[in-house]
Amino acid sequence: MDRTEVVIVGSGFGALATAKKLAKAGKPFVLISETTEHLFQPLLYQVATGVLAAGEIAPSVRAILAKYPNADVRLGRVVDVHPDAKELVYEAAGERHTLGYDSLVAATGARQSYFGRDEFAKVTFALKTVDDAERLRAQIVRCFEEAHTTTDLERRKNLLSFIVIGAGATGVELAGQIKELAGRYFEQSIRGVTADDVTVTLVEGAGVAMPAYGGKLSEYTKESLEKSGVEVVLNTLVTDIDEHGATLKAHGSETGERRTAETIIWSAGVQANDFAAALAERTGCETDRAGRLLVNPDLTVGGRADIFAVGDMTSLNNLPGQSPVAMQGGRHVAATILGKTKRGTPFKFRDKGSMAIINRFRAVTKVKSIELTGFVAWVLWLAVHMVYLVGFRNRYVAVMSWFGSFLGHRRPHFHYAQEIGPIEAPEARIPDDETAKAA
Ligand SMILES: Cc1cc2nc3c(=O)[nH]c(=O)nc-3n(C[C@H](O)[C@H](O)[C@H](O)COP(=O)(O)OP(=O)(O)OC[C@H]3O[C@@H](n4cnc5c(N)ncnc54)[C@H](O)[C@@H]3O)c2cc1C
Repeated sequence: MDRTEVVIVGSGFGALATAKKLAKAGKPFVLISETTEHLFQPLLYQVATGVLAAGEIAPSVRAILAKYPNADVRLGRVVDVHPDAKELVYEAAGERHTLGYDSLVAATGARQSYFGRDEFAKVTFALKTVDDAERLRAQIVRCFEEAHTTTDLERRKNLLSFIVIGAGATGVELAGQIKELAGRYFEQSIRGVTADDVTVTLVEGAGVAMPAYGGKLSEYTKESLEKSGVEVVLNTLVTDIDEHGATLKAHGSETGERRTAETIIWSAGVQANDFAAALAERTGCETDRAGRLLVNPDLTVGGRADIFAVGDMTSLNNLPGQSPVAMQGGRHVAATILGKTKRGTPFKFRDKGSMAIINRFRAVTKVKSIELTGFVAWVLWLAVHMVYLVGFRNRYVAVMSWFGSFLGHRRPHFHYAQEIGPIEAPEARIPDDETAKAA
């Protein structure tokens, strides 16, 4: 039977951090992931808004690990695990495979949660994967292009209306960027469309924007967005969504308010990916409401000393769902497997701070008790994200693209090919009496 010493599931932040440490130590492992790219999710919004190309934030894990002969990368979807037999089941190329292991590290991350309203997924745009970002980018370009040529004023208004649901970091970044795009890119390149024609509404159920920060940083975020023309609607839930709009209901209000928009973006919550549920069932590990594994302090799962889970699929000590938590968790697990850290040692997260970008030249940063806002925070954001972006070429390209977009007006990755549907033939539109005259 196919066997290896360590199996790592996923190719995100947690998986790659584990893999790199094992690879350098010469430990044989198999990394299995649904996608063989390492997606740098914090920069997805720049793919959606035409600043960067997808390839620049999603290098191939296969290429990153190619120089380590002990690393075997496989494209596949892990569907089950048999802990007593120490076997993992995955699907690849239409076949089901079983792979034996000594240690298993799961880092399968999280996806959007629609809080029981999964039908919202069909009528909203998300920002979790490369496909999501490319789909949203095509939608943004389509809306501006069609608004330019349509003669239907109501339709034009809806094409230029965007609703973003959830004012966490992703929602704030997107709302800020779409408004900025309107004024700094489309206003320059599409005659007759101005930033004032574009409505961006950011809706949040909590009483502040960016609730994870609170206080001065949340206040600054709201003020900055409003100054740039984004409407920030707080204490409000979205109760209904269809292709053409959403119903917003303020807390305490009896009735909802219908807002029309062609683009509705959902960034309101996350839930663990499916493999977390399989692991929970097979190991007896408990989960929280978002399906995240309540892992042990040493990041082992349930009663198993040979199964570990890290990152967004887990919940431990209220640590945030952020990349440093996944990366540090991955390194802790690798050190445990390599015997460099004693078995059972609790994972200690070193909080180096967190940050979020609002728009050009404005960001918020929190490092322990130090809170920074504005230009300094923005420069810090760019520097940190450049350092963590994988690959020298990608860093170089990102810096050049940032110069072009933030100092100039360039969005090099906006391209859109109109899908030509059936168009009414001109003669069909001639009224009957006109047709008679022509005859
Ligand atoms: C838009 C956006 C912006 C963000 N901005 C920031 C930020 O500014 N700062 C920050 O710190 N964090 C940010 N985050 C959060 C950060 O990206 C996550 O915390 C981090 O990616 C978690 O890493 P992970 O390894 O747990 O999961 P992920 O990076 O999500 O990786 C999960 C991996 O598992 C694979 N997978 C899933 N299911 C299976 C399966 N069944 N079989 C095989 N493979 C599977 C996926 O293909 C993927 O490779 C952002 C997230 C998003 C979506």
